[in-house]
Amino acid sequence: MNTYFHSVELEVDKCCGCTNCLKRCPTEAIRIRDGKAHILSERCIDCGECIRICPHHAKKAHSLELEDIKKFKYNVAIPAPALYAQFNNLDNVNIVLTGLKAVGFNDVFEVSRAAELVSEATRKIIKEKKSKLPLISSACPAVVRLIKIRFPELCENVLPLLAPIEVAAKIARKEAIEKTGLKSEEIGVFFISPCPAKVTEIHTPNSVEKSACNGAIGISRIYPELTKAMDHLDFKDIEPLSRSGLIGIGWATSGGESAGILRDKYLAADGIENVIKILEDLEDEHIRGLEFVELNACSGGCVGGVLTVENPYVAQARIQKLRKYLPVTLNHLEDDDIDNMNWENELKFDADIFRLSDDIVKAMEMMDEMESIYKDLPHLDCGSCGSPTCRAMAEDIVKGEAKETDCIHKLKAQIQSVYDQLKGTL
Ligand code: SF4
Ligand code: SF4
Ligand code: SF4
Repeated sequence: MNTYFHSVELEVDKCCGCTNCLKRCPTEAIRIRDGKAHILSERCIDCGECIRICPHHAKKAHSLELEDIKKFKYNVAIPAPALYAQFNNLDNVNIVLTGLKAVGFNDVFEVSRAAELVSEATRKIIKEKKSKLPLISSACPAVVRLIKIRFPELCENVLPLLAPIEVAAKIARKEAIEKTGLKSEEIGVFFISPCPAKVTEIHTPNSVEKSACNGAIGISRIYPELTKAMDHLDFKDIEPLSRSGLIGIGWATSGGESAGILRDKYLAADGIENVIKILEDLEDEHIRGLEFVELNACSGGCVGGVLTVENPYVAQARIQKLRKYLPVTLNHLEDDDIDNMNWENELKFDADIFRLSDDIVKAMEMMDEMESIYKDLPHLDCGSCGSPTCRAMAEDIVKGEAKETDCIHKLKAQIQSVYDQLKGTL
């Protein structure tokens, strides 16, 4: 079985076992045992829903600190376009990019530039009918991982192009090597991330063996220092660093990637529950006739990521305003660009996750036992036992990770029956 790095972590001391996260997790990756939440690593897609919902702030996302960039001789920040939406009254993204240099980066390369290349490459793939349609965007790693563990039929629909972060990191690294003459290992490329899923993707990528990024710093982590640096910039200090058009910057919000396809047979959905519904409908072929499907795990798109600081709806409006004065696109594919943007690995269904045993006979016996345990459970899906549903509880019992009396309703019935028997003997 694969091992995964996860950027979503539990701070055990702060957890009081309230079950809020248990009920919210879209992949049933959380259990409450001994009064504390536990994340089942192989099922977690790092969507960040449990961070959003926890009233005790017991879930957090891993992020590097600005200090961490100092290990490298030369550093390039690759900011997500969602970063621009965090600042009030911003009418020039160069202020943010110059601010990144002021906080310690030697250079910047906007992910929105790479997004424009991915948009052009996607248009080409659709036009040449090179892949199975509809293509499902590969930009949200939480969605890609969700497809990998829950929707085997849709793995071959995932756009076989690297996400803009990876494309940006590759180009930024190449340019930095050419500019400085340094070796690749002396150059640090850091993504400024709106969400934990992208932090995870850098550590354990789906699409490549090793990411060209060295790590990620959460937007919320860098925000205080960046704001301070931006406030201290003189007008004359602002460098003309941005080279993105409205297509690239539009990727920050739901529907932005689809708009960049410049065709009308598309669908864009955001928010993990809506995403799951669309994937189910696609798998059951209830939705047909589309060329492209854009799915973002966070409401509003990347501007809704849990590592951002601004309300996603305010952020969406800011992105719309910023796009108004930009040219359509400023980045175009060179001859061999598209070959450098293909996935190195094929996306395969992770069947191991739901296998009860490696021994097929044993697995089938366990499955039968699970069904019979499930029949006897109350089917209330209340989560009081520490498993998110009665079916998940039956699976946990079969695996020896829970016992029937963990179900308070079963326990209550057992106590009542003992009481009734005792009463009958008096
Ligand atoms: S929401 Fe989850 S992580 Fe937060 S306190 Fe409740 S059980 Fe613990
Ligand atoms: S990050 Fe998402 S998938 Fe992972 S445990 Fe939290 S809610 Fe579940
Ligand atoms: S009814 Fe029982 S088994 Fe089902 S979720 Fe609730 S406590 Fe768990």
